[in-house]
Amino acid sequence: TLRESADHRLRSRAARVVPGGMYGHQRAGLFPANFPQFLAGGNGAIIRDVDGREFIDFLLGYGPMVLGYQHPAVEEAAARQRALADCQNAPSERMVELAELLVDMVDHADWAYFAKNGTDATTTALTIARAATGRAKILVERHSYHGAAPWCTPGVAGIQAADRENIVYFDYNDLASLRDAFAEADGDLAGVIITPFKHNDGVDQELITAEFAGALRTGCDAAGAVLILDDVRCGMRLHLGSSWRDVDVEPDLSVWGKAISNGYAVSAILGRESLRDAATSIFSTGTFWFAAVPMAAALATIAELRRIDGVGLQRRAGDRFKAGLVDQANAAGFEIAYTGPSQMPYLRFVDDVDHKLSFEFSEAALEHGVYLHPRHNWFVSTAHTDEVIDRALEGTGMAFNQLASAR
Ligand code: PMP
Repeated sequence: TLRESADHRLRSRAARVVPGGMYGHQRAGLFPANFPQFLAGGNGAIIRDVDGREFIDFLLGYGPMVLGYQHPAVEEAAARQRALADCQNAPSERMVELAELLVDMVDHADWAYFAKNGTDATTTALTIARAATGRAKILVERHSYHGAAPWCTPGVAGIQAADRENIVYFDYNDLASLRDAFAEADGDLAGVIITPFKHNDGVDQELITAEFAGALRTGCDAAGAVLILDDVRCGMRLHLGSSWRDVDVEPDLSVWGKAISNGYAVSAILGRESLRDAATSIFSTGTFWFAAVPMAAALATIAELRRIDGVGLQRRAGDRFKAGLVDQANAAGFEIAYTGPSQMPYLRFVDDVDHKLSFEFSEAALEHGVYLHPRHNWFVSTAHTDEVIDRALEGTGMAFNQLASAR
C-alpha cells in the first residue's frame, strides 16, 4: 500500500528536512495521489520510481529529455568530458564549439551567452535589453511562465510590488491588449518577452497568429525595443533553427534551455549583432554556468538531433499518440480539446470543472503505466518509437474506459 511504499518513507523523511517536503511545480501534492514524488532511474522513454514501478514518460523532466533518458551518444560525450574536467576556473573549449554551433544553426544569432537554468537566461536577456536601450519597461504575456525569479514567478509570497514595477502585461494573440501595453510603456520600453506559442498551464495551447507576431516586431522596431523569444520549452522541438522559423518574424534575442543538452544543466541566450555590445557590457555570471560536461552533452545532443531528424521523429511520435488518443476519447464518449504541436500537446476534457476529469484520467493512466501530467503540456522524445506509443495507447485506452464506466 501507499503507506508502506519507499516513496512514502522518503516523503516522511523529506517532510522533516525539506520545506514542504518538496517545493515548486515538482511537488507531488499537485499531482493525483498515485504519482511518485521520487524517481530512481530511466532509460529511453521509460522512467522508474523508487518502488520499482515503471512508466512510459510524457513529461521528460518538463522537457529536457528530447532523445530519451540515458542516450548513449550524449552519455558518452558527457563521460569523455567528465574525465577531463567539468567545473573549472574558466570555460573549456566546449563553450566556443557550442557557441559556434548555435550561431550556425539559428538565423538571428551572431553570438551566444551561456547560463544554467531557463530562469537565469530569461532574466539575463531582460538585463541585456535594458542595457541596450537604457530603459526599464518589459512587456510580458500575463500567464506565460518565464521562470521563478521575482519578476516572473507565479508565486506571490516574498515578492514585492517593486520586483514587478517595470513589467507591463498583455494577453497572448490579443492585439488590443498589446497595443495598450505598448502605449503604457511608451518612452521607457526596453523589450518584449514572449513564448513561441501559447503554452500556458491548464489552458488550451494556441499557435501565434501572423498578425500578432507581426505586431510584436513592428511595435518593437517603432520603439527601438528588443524582441525576446523565450524558446526554453519549445527549443529543439518544432525546428532546430528556433521555433519561429515557420513564422515570418525573427526575434532580436532568443532564450534556450531544457532540450538543448538532453538533461544536462546549461541554458543559452542567442542574439543579434546589434546587441553584442549590450551583452558585453552587463555583469551576469555564475560558478557553474560554464561547466564543460553539459556543454559537451549539448554538442552531442544537437549533433544527434540533426543526424536522425529529431524534430521529424518527435512529430511522428506526437501525431501517432494524438491520433490514438482522439480515437479513444471518441470511442469512450469524451469530448476533448487536443491542442498545440503534436510534439508537445495539451489534452483538456471539454467542460471539465477544476481539471477533475484530467486528474482522474492521469491517475488511471498511471495505473496502466503511462505518466501524463494532468494540467501541463506533455512532451514526446525520439525514443518514443511507434512500438512505445502503441504500448502507451494500450494504457490510455484502459484509462478512458475506466473513466467512462465510472460515469
Ligand atoms: N521559460 C519557459 C518557457 C519555460 O517553460 C521554463 C521552464 N518551465 C522557463 C522559462 C524556466 O526554466 P528553468 O525552469 O530551467 O529555470
